[in-house]
Amino acid sequence: MARLRIERTACPRPALVLTDTPRPDCPDCGGDGGTAYDHGDPETGEYAGTEWESCTCWNQQRCWVLLPLPRRRWRPRRHPDPWAANGYSDEPPF
Ligand SMILES: [Zn+2]
Repeated sequence: MARLRIERTACPRPALVLTDTPRPDCPDCGGDGGTAYDHGDPETGEYAGTEWESCTCWNQQRCWVLLPLPRRRWRPRRHPDPWAANGYSDEPPF
């Protein structure tokens, strides 16, 4: 049973999406969602990059848009921000 996670994405457009997540107790990936393979150049033997193979315990492509977000700044209204009066904001830049 895969777990679902709410994430904010900017692609293809800003939105809150529900995404599939790796199984935390997956015997193949251990919850990482995949395995990274370092591979070298067959001729020189030098490091040639890392390949990421997604695990089958989750589907990276699977997501459901919950709430499209406006392209301009999005301010969650969870609670009043006591620091707002001081000009302080912990809002991440977009
Ligand atoms: Zn897995």
